[in-house]
Amino acid sequence: MTTDLRLSTDKIVRPDKDRFLNEDNPFEDMMSRFDRAAELLDLEPGLYKILRHPEKEITLSIPVLMDNGEIEVFTGYRVLHNTSRGPAKGGIRFDPNVNRDEVKALAAWMTWKCAVVNIPFGGSKGGVICDPLKLSVAELERITRRYTAGLIGILGPDSDVPAPDVNTNERVMAWVMDTYSMHMRHTVTSVVTGKPVEMGGSLGRREATGRGCMLVTLAALEHLGMRAAGATVAVQGFGNVGSVAAQLLHTQGCKVVAIGDRSGGILNTNGIDVNDAIAYVKQNRSLDGYSKGDRITNDDLLTLEVDVLVPAALENVITRKNAPKIRARVICEGENGPTTAPADVILDDKGVFVIPDILANAGGVTVSYFEWVQDRGGYFWTEASVNDRLQQIMQDSFRAVLELSRRHKVNMRTAAYMLSISRVATVHRLRGIYA
Ligand code: NAD
Repeated sequence: MTTDLRLSTDKIVRPDKDRFLNEDNPFEDMMSRFDRAAELLDLEPGLYKILRHPEKEITLSIPVLMDNGEIEVFTGYRVLHNTSRGPAKGGIRFDPNVNRDEVKALAAWMTWKCAVVNIPFGGSKGGVICDPLKLSVAELERITRRYTAGLIGILGPDSDVPAPDVNTNERVMAWVMDTYSMHMRHTVTSVVTGKPVEMGGSLGRREATGRGCMLVTLAALEHLGMRAAGATVAVQGFGNVGSVAAQLLHTQGCKVVAIGDRSGGILNTNGIDVNDAIAYVKQNRSLDGYSKGDRITNDDLLTLEVDVLVPAALENVITRKNAPKIRARVICEGENGPTTAPADVILDDKGVFVIPDILANAGGVTVSYFEWVQDRGGYFWTEASVNDRLQQIMQDSFRAVLELSRRHKVNMRTAAYMLSISRVATVHRLRGIYA
């Protein structure tokens, strides 16, 4: 018999009366979107309470022998938000600004993201407070291995599967895989995704997030009756996500007029040669000194009059302060959480079409899912096959969210949350509560 998750009251009682109070707290900001969608879905209060709380929050003290012979203790987190639909899935971030609320928000975003593209994973995220720019490779390896060892019993192909995130990469994933495998006494490739292709990684994984951004941007332009050919594009963040999104949109005939990274922005109204800029960054590690355009600030880049803006760097860059100045017609959220909840309202009023993060950047986790499937099957796909399947999922998901947004007369973000929450909720109802 299915447990009644409605419990005693009929209506959800939201903890925040003003759902826009906490613009600076990523978890509360993200949950305000969840609250709105939950209300529209008339979600049972019991289920609402369950989904508002992460399943597990782990804080680790990570003692590491530094190259100078001293011991340093780093703080790490792993949060599993929800595993009702399958193993938790979520990246590991190494950054000085990592904090528990950010990791909690990122873990919940992973739950909604996996559900919106309907892949059989829940959501998790991890992070270590450290500055990789100030650490040697050997120190990074020791942090990674000790962090992984501290999570034995949590991580696993059937329980929690990490991936790269800010400042972690294929090499870090190889260390996670090796450490876990040593503890298990056999090689377990599917414990982690985003690995080097030589050791079970998937072709097309590195480009997958940017490719997904390109696919949903094209779908949005078509929906709005705009042509991709000649559409002007500005991209903030020129790393894995931003550079690939810019390159692929350029290939589709769009005119990339501005790009930017932590060194600032470049504007060239005649169009930037994206491949040339990528080659420059490969050699110089940033756009600093790139001279084929005018220098602009990152703030200016966000408010350029363009057809498409792709924020692909940091959270909370479009807030109530600069949202009134945004002039893009479409925003494709390449990064997680670029737009705060109050900014959403302003963008809605201005008629900006926002492709929300949980849909726009889901290409990465989708190909991570393909990698996990390939590892478990021991049979590897061609890059064309990976890209075809990714295209199908991104286009189907865009259509499903658009259809819901039309039916309920809500924006794309609320529709994406409604779709994912309803998928997670259905599984909870079927499973009931183990008591
Ligand atoms: P990355 O480290 O490869 O690139 C980050 C880029 O942002 C760099 O160009 C950096 O210079 C720039 N940047 C940093 N600080 C900046 C600032 N203050 N102003 C402007 N630019 C700044 O990271 P990535 O993998 O491209 O990820 C970017 C974002 O996308 C992250 O928020 C990440 O969580 C999210 N994301 C990544 C993936 C993935 O598969 N890599 C998937 C989903 C979401």
